[in-house]
Amino acid sequence: MSNELPATVLVVDDMIENIEILNWILADDYRVLFATNGADALTIAREQRPDLILLDVLMPEMTGYDVCKQLKQDTLTQDIPVLFLTAKDQKEDEEIGLGLGAVDYLTKPARASIVRLRVKIHLELKRYRDTLTALSITDSLTGIPNRRRFDEFLRDEWMRAVRSKAPLSLIMVDVDCFKAYNDHFGHAAGDRCLKTVAQVLEKGLLRRTDLAARYGGEEFACVLPATDHSGALSLAEQLREQIVARRCDHPFSSAGPFVTVSMGVATLRPDPHTEPDMLIELADRRLYQAKRAGRNRAIGEDGATSA
Ligand code: GH3
Ligand code: MG
Ligand code: MG
Repeated sequence: MSNELPATVLVVDDMIENIEILNWILADDYRVLFATNGADALTIAREQRPDLILLDVLMPEMTGYDVCKQLKQDTLTQDIPVLFLTAKDQKEDEEIGLGLGAVDYLTKPARASIVRLRVKIHLELKRYRDTLTALSITDSLTGIPNRRRFDEFLRDEWMRAVRSKAPLSLIMVDVDCFKAYNDHFGHAAGDRCLKTVAQVLEKGLLRRTDLAARYGGEEFACVLPATDHSGALSLAEQLREQIVARRCDHPFSSAGPFVTVSMGVATLRPDPHTEPDMLIELADRRLYQAKRAGRNRAIGEDGATSA
């Protein structure tokens, strides 16, 4: 973890002198951003996602308390730790600040070494939390998003599609004759093969809003928001070809000399009366059909335009 980028700290204070002092205290160790009012602080927090926010309370227009409240209401910023640094030194003030979800409360004037140490502690905790979060949604073998992340992502995208009335597509991917691959080459080779397939899927997805995940075992899933059926089918076909093009020997497959995958592709136009599971079932059915039809192919069902 030592060669990571320096953490980013956002300092919010309406007094330029205070900002200069905090910059002097922190700039050697961190990337320091500044805002002199609440509105700018919220914009910078959303756009730059700092690792920690040092927040003054007494500011004209919007107080630090209000800024903190808004940060905690926005999913983009709610996990950024807030440390109040304020001249308000009553216990009641501290209670309000911590009650709003701040991680710490320091009163001005604060000793430079104490500010430095508290900032360091909270950044360490933040990094630890971020690592745990990343681990909890990553598949340890392939390094791509895991089933938990897939479920969460599909649910979110389903709801977004309900609101936007856009189609949502899903590609279910299953490696062909993979039991035979394991039986003949061993599990370590099988694991390497799964990593290769995961890499191809992850690199092959074209939009930043797409997600490739390991669904379980030798099955993967690609979620394609705002993608109609013909787009999803042609992408599936490209991905399938890219996997064949890796030419990973598989002499024991019934589908050809190399590692191949079968795919079920489904598209729906989500509405409030439907659930993401329907999309999975639809794609699964087509995947099964692709297997029976001889494997190494993608078969789709367009449930978005047929209604
Ligand atoms: P089909 O073409 O019909 O999909 O046949 P298949 O052999 O791929 O399907 P089956 O479900 O019979 O076998 C899946 C195999 O995937 C069995 C299991 O050992 C292997 N597998 C599942 N997860 C892992 C893994 O993490 N590592 C390795 N090496 N193998 C795995
Ligand atoms: Mg399977
Ligand atoms: Mg299989």
